[in-house]
Amino acid sequence: MSERSAALFDYKSAFQNSVDQVRSEGRYRVFADLKRVRGQFPKAVRRRADGSEQEVVVWCSNDYLGMGQHPAVIEAMQVEVGETGAGAGGTRNISGTTRSAVDLEAELASWHQKEAALLFTSGYVANEATLSTLQKILPGLIIFSDALNHASMIAGIRNGGGERHIFRHNDLEHLEELLAAAPADAPKLIAFESVYSMDGDIADLAGTIALARKYGALTYLDEVHAVGLYGATGAGVAERDGVLGGIDIVECTLGKAIGVMGGYIAADAVIVDAVRSWASGFIFTTSLPPALTAGALASVRHLKAHPELRAAHQERAATLKRRLAEAGIPVLPSVSHIVPVHVGNPVHCKLISDMLLEDFGIYVQPINYPTVPKGTERLRFTPSPDHDDGMIDKLVDAMDKLWSHCNVARRPVAA
Ligand SMILES: *Cc1c(COP(=O)(O)O)cnc(C)c1O
Repeated sequence: MSERSAALFDYKSAFQNSVDQVRSEGRYRVFADLKRVRGQFPKAVRRRADGSEQEVVVWCSNDYLGMGQHPAVIEAMQVEVGETGAGAGGTRNISGTTRSAVDLEAELASWHQKEAALLFTSGYVANEATLSTLQKILPGLIIFSDALNHASMIAGIRNGGGERHIFRHNDLEHLEELLAAAPADAPKLIAFESVYSMDGDIADLAGTIALARKYGALTYLDEVHAVGLYGATGAGVAERDGVLGGIDIVECTLGKAIGVMGGYIAADAVIVDAVRSWASGFIFTTSLPPALTAGALASVRHLKAHPELRAAHQERAATLKRRLAEAGIPVLPSVSHIVPVHVGNPVHCKLISDMLLEDFGIYVQPINYPTVPKGTERLRFTPSPDHDDGMIDKLVDAMDKLWSHCNVARRPVAA
């Protein structure tokens, strides 16, 4: 942006003002520059702004089981690159339907006990493209959306432009009120998540499905924070709860517990065929590189066969919650693998996270508004099976010191 005469529009100031606004609201984001080290998960090397390096333990990764570094995944990716090269070479329609994408879709469909699955570039795109497209396929579709749904679901619902109603988070009475008020013969869809990743609570799937049946609605479930982690084969909370058949469309990511990148939906063949035929965000974009889909396929096969990973994951989360609670640290009442710790103030939250990083080599990103409501700022820990007892000891010890140092409220040990 070169210097311009004062009479013309001042672009530079406009951009600067927008950044200043974010900064003044205390939500300017500073990213940690990390180099993950293969074989050392959850450790990584952080590079500071001055170029110096520091070894850190990552406590906020969504690579929940360390599958991003699993030898089976890495080998599958290396073999695929060796055999097929780097990119897919096109959109799905124009030469980009690679064999490993086709095999992965078949594997994902069978995992969720659905007839078909469809890959997208990311979970965000899967949600945005599918939810906006469903409103085109089903004119007059009324969407009922949980108040804490992820930004990608909100974007898809808004972009579809149809009628929508927000129900209070996990409040089935409110959902039923809204469903009952809509015309009985109108097409309806309930959009919700299983594990809500900021609070660690889990939706009542069976209760939601019962309402969907009563009022003739489709169910659309985001299992992004559950796939790989819940259920006998890791197909998610719907598998754990024995309700796979009651979910019409399940949406997941390949980027979190599966450890690679990409997103997908799984559903009846006719639903997938319709979305495949109408979704702009699926049609007009280059398909995932074959090495990614081959890596994801190896990861899913491994996750299906290794329930002990899920047991170890739950054990680590339970242990961390217990250890923090014993130290009087206010752990929020999560029923999942997410361990949120209440701070309640954006400045303290950032300060504690900065000190954990610089003084203790512990990396946990502060979660501030607008990701969570003001006054509920928190630290969100995601222990994996590879966070050992020594790492937990160090974390609890550091939190204990910082809670005293920063004079943040504790919880009585008994609570
Ligand atoms: C991360 C996330 C997504 C998006 O998935 P990506 O593959 O990272 O784009 C969708 N839904 C929820 C609930 C998420 O947390």
